[in-house]
Amino acid sequence: MNKLSSLDVRDFTVSIGNKRILQNINLKLDSGEKNLIFGPNGSGKSTLLKTIMGVPSSGFVTGSIIYGGVDVIGMSVYERSKLGFALAFQQPPGIRGVKLSQLLKLCLGKKRDDDFSSDEVDTIERFELSDMLDRDVNVEFSGGERKRAEMLQILFMRPRLLLLDEPDSGVDVDSLRLLSVELDNYLKTSKASSLIITHKGDILDYIEAEKACVIIDGMNYCFPDPKRVYEEIRQGGYEHCLTCDYRIMEEKS
Ligand code: ADP
Ligand code: MG
Repeated sequence: MNKLSSLDVRDFTVSIGNKRILQNINLKLDSGEKNLIFGPNGSGKSTLLKTIMGVPSSGFVTGSIIYGGVDVIGMSVYERSKLGFALAFQQPPGIRGVKLSQLLKLCLGKKRDDDFSSDEVDTIERFELSDMLDRDVNVEFSGGERKRAEMLQILFMRPRLLLLDEPDSGVDVDSLRLLSVELDNYLKTSKASSLIITHKGDILDYIEAEKACVIIDGMNYCFPDPKRVYEEIRQGGYEHCLTCDYRIMEEKS
C-alpha cells in the first residue's frame, strides 16, 4: 500500500450530545483512490467528512484516522489542512465583506495585492467565475455558482485529500460536467485521494471511482464497484443495501 496520502479510518464513532451519529465506521483509501459515499438524508455522511477534517463542534469522536501512516485524531483543522486535507461544504456559507478574488488568492497562497497568473485567470474563466470576483463570497450566488466557486477554492489549494460533500447537488448538467472534468483532471495529475458524497450517479460518467460505500443509520457498507453500487441503490433504494446479495457476497469473500 502506498502510504503517502492513504487514509485508514478505523472504528470511527461520533456522538453529538447523547445521540450516536456514526458507529464503527471503517474505510480505507489507498493513495490516489476515489471513494464515493452514498446514503439517505440524515445518515451521517456530512458528519463523517466534517469530523475527518476536524471541524470543531461536529461531535465527540472515538477511533482513529490514519493518514499517510500518522493518526491525525488529536490534530486541529489547521494542522490537518497543512497535511493536505480540504473540505468542500455541502452548503458553502456566505461571507459578507470578503470578495471571491480575496478568498481565491488566499487559497493560492498569494498576498492581497498579488495578481492572478494567466493560467489562474484561464482557470477562473473556465469555471465561469470571472464576473463574480468582486462579489462577496457566496452572497446571493446561485446554487451552481456556489458549487463552482467552492470547487475552484479547493483545487487552488492543491490538497492531497479531498473531502467533497455533494459537489454535484443543485448544479445543472453543464456545471456538473465542468466541475467533474476539472476535478477528474486534478485527481489524475495530482494523485490526491478523495471521499466524495453524492446522491446522483451522474458524476460516475466523469470520475472513475475505485470504491463506493453506503452509510445507513451511521454505519457503512462497502463495496468495490461504484457503478454497481449505484445501480443497486437506483433499483432497490437504500433499504435494499442492507440485504442485497451483492453485499453478502462481498462480505464472505
Ligand atoms: P447527512 O449528511 O447524511 O444527510 P448529517 O451528517 O448532516 O447527515 O446528519 C446526521 C444526523 O446528525 C442528523 O440526524 C442530524 O440532525 C444530526 N446532527 C448533525 N449535526 C448535529 C448537531 N450539531 N447537533 C445535533 N444533531 C446533529
Ligand atoms: Mg449531508
